[in-house]
Amino acid sequence: MGKVPATEAFGLAAKDESGVLSSFRFSRRETGEKDVRLKVLFCGICHTDVCMARNEWGFTTYPLVPGHEIVGVVTEVGAKVIKFKAGDKVGVGYMLSSCRSCDICTDDQENHCPKMIMTSGGKYYDDTMTYGGYSDHLVCEEDYIIRIPENLPLDAAAPLLCAGVTVYSPLKSHGLDKPGIHIGVVGLGGLGHVAVKFAKAMGTKVTVISSSDGKRDEAINRLGADLFLVSRDPEEMKDAMGTMDGIIDTVSATHPLLPLLGLLKYKGKFIMVGAPDKPLDLPALPLILGKKMVVGSMTGGIKESQEMVDFAGKHNITADIELISADYVNMAMERLEKGDVRYRFVIDVANTMKPTP
Ligand code: NAP
Ligand code: ZN
Repeated sequence: MGKVPATEAFGLAAKDESGVLSSFRFSRRETGEKDVRLKVLFCGICHTDVCMARNEWGFTTYPLVPGHEIVGVVTEVGAKVIKFKAGDKVGVGYMLSSCRSCDICTDDQENHCPKMIMTSGGKYYDDTMTYGGYSDHLVCEEDYIIRIPENLPLDAAAPLLCAGVTVYSPLKSHGLDKPGIHIGVVGLGGLGHVAVKFAKAMGTKVTVISSSDGKRDEAINRLGADLFLVSRDPEEMKDAMGTMDGIIDTVSATHPLLPLLGLLKYKGKFIMVGAPDKPLDLPALPLILGKKMVVGSMTGGIKESQEMVDFAGKHNITADIELISADYVNMAMERLEKGDVRYRFVIDVANTMKPTP
């Protein structure tokens, strides 16, 4: 298929730090030789979208069209595209491009490339802003597109593109993906609930550490966690001291680390993926005494994103979602901020996103 001219697009954008989203019209670039154009079907609402829309991290450029948990169907491909064709079901995650030549890109960790271009709120090579998946369609280089396995429902698969790979990647890269390993998952939200599913499918023992008792039954009986701890209950926490090989902390707000570090075994790994906007207190002694490690992790590379969705396809892993219409997005973001979602909002973009007249 040949090139098509730049195309009018529409979506929802935050226009200032209120973070309130409203209709927005813009244009997408023409389909370059190595580009794929896709019609957006579904887009997940990651907590990061809320932080970005409200400029909580201080680097948002407005207007911001959020959305980096995108599933769609290919409508056009450039002349030199070899991996995809019209009709394919595909996903786009946190990034649209990277330099491809640095040590980090050649190590398949393009997400950490200094020149990585974010799907939403980034700047493309032609100096235009990148607008994310809360929009009718998208153009993306084929090398940054993920193929969605046939057996996965597309709406519930959308959150895998960020939440999924963000928890899958550190489990794999830190060797925490094997039977015999005990994983703690802190925060049972969008990221946390898929972390439980992936870690269980990898054969590990999983303990959820939540801020209240409210999700205990679902964590154990629906998501398959082995144990559940309330982080504010010192007695429960005490019983689990020194039992975990790794902890994935997905909490979006500031919270005490001391009780969590105590849960780790000797040489245990504490992996931060949650991104509170204020610093956390990191006590030194509990780290020193047990030779423990604290590391961070951001999303994942393209190769591991594909591996992650293929693994999800094999094990039938998707997110537990509340499918919403585009006109509910502001309400959904308010509810997400309050922790009122089980466990991911996904926007039914194709059926409900309409351009302003
Ligand atoms: P989410 O659905 O809102 O989940 C966050 C969970 O954190 C909540 O469900 C809650 O779990 C817990 N929590 C919230 N406030 C808390 C508090 N004050 N004290 C203790 N626990 C609290 O958010 P998400 O989409 O999973 O994202 C989680 C975080 O990861 C966000 O900061 C997001 O920006 C970040 N993120 C990072 C990456 C990355 O690449 N590193 C990728 C995506 C998202 P309980 O009810 O169980 O306590
Ligand atoms: Zn995200």
